Amino acid sequence: MPQTPQIAKEALDEALARQGLRSTRQREHVFSVLLHRRDHPTADEVYARAKEEMPSISLATVYNCLETLVTCGLVRAVNYEREPTRYCPNLHEHAHFQDKGSGRVYDIDLPPDVMAHLKRILPNGFEADNVEIYFHGSLQRRQDAEAG
Ligand SMILES: [Zn+2]
Repeated sequence: MPQTPQIAKEALDEALARQGLRSTRQREHVFSVLLHRRDHPTADEVYARAKEEMPSISLATVYNCLETLVTCGLVRAVNYEREPTRYCPNLHEHAHFQDKGSGRVYDIDLPPDVMAHLKRILPNGFEADNVEIYFHGSLQRRQDAEAG
């Protein structure tokens, strides 16, 4: 079973508690599945991975856990047009790049000044809590790195 690292377990407990929720084995397991392979899996993929170690878990439970993790701010929902939602546990400010050949989604680090610039283009009185940047294109070179 991919063990939830202690620090992640604490973050999970804390984030759940802020929403008045408790950690459950299922929530912890789904979170650990996401942390284990950060390749932006869909709910179905998370379900398949979660079942390996927890055969009794249902797809509905996985969906609920994912929704809870997103609500708690521990996981981001990544939505590419006309595609199932993918899930990302990377909480650093980053954009997503989808390779149209493989469909894989990569994390792209965003320098903090980029975000500051973007927020400044908003008209007076508009305040963004959140900015989502999605790239869609092709990878020219093979990347050795695991999709992050
Ligand atoms: Zn991501």
